[in-house]
Amino acid sequence: MVDILYEATKKCGVCDGAVKVTKVRSRLSLIKQDSDFCTYYKEVNPNYYAVFVCPNCGYAAQDTYFEDAPLGIQDIKKFLDSRTVNVNYSGNRTLEQALSTYKLAIFFAEMISALPSRLGGLYLKLAWLFRENEQDNEELMALEKAQQCYEQAFLREKMPIGGMSQLTVEYLCGELLRRIGRFEEALTYLGKVVANPQAKLEKRIYDMARESWNLARQAQKEQQTG
Ligand SMILES: [Zn+2]
Repeated sequence: MVDILYEATKKCGVCDGAVKVTKVRSRLSLIKQDSDFCTYYKEVNPNYYAVFVCPNCGYAAQDTYFEDAPLGIQDIKKFLDSRTVNVNYSGNRTLEQALSTYKLAIFFAEMISALPSRLGGLYLKLAWLFRENEQDNEELMALEKAQQCYEQAFLREKMPIGGMSQLTVEYLCGELLRRIGRFEEALTYLGKVVANPQAKLEKRIYDMARESWNLARQAQKEQQTG
């Protein structure tokens, strides 16, 4: 594993301090992808390193907006001012450490009522880490949170969000509902995706939505006859 990880210096969005962060090189060998976009690579799980944590003040956020001063920065400063911070997540991270970084980032994102899409992204990745750790109940709880966030994002935010088209977000909502066992609602979302004329232009999402719709329908039947 040569040079998969490397160090970079970032500026904390809350205290402006310099933070040494560990990043993952973008060229990784793809193994597979789950139907909720959880992606597996041969070398390393890049999601382990997607949250930056400031060892100076304790703030944590997703790498893509860690350097931006968050809305509600005063609330975060007030909270952190009265606390002694002792966090250091630089260098290699274990799965346990990665889980902790997501819990921290979610804590701050919820404190400042961050955009639902941002919170949804954190909860979704947290769920994937629980999946890797075979913590099924925790995974389902995180998926449910992610679903609520993406539903809010779908209603309130301008698409695309986080590189996802409107159709993709709609599919993801349906797929997450299926995974948490809310089949009726899942079928409504997925049915809308399949029936959308736009879906012809997004063939991959269309196929995934059909597959998920079939699985949800079957699971619903089994539940009813069960
Ligand atoms: Zn800081």
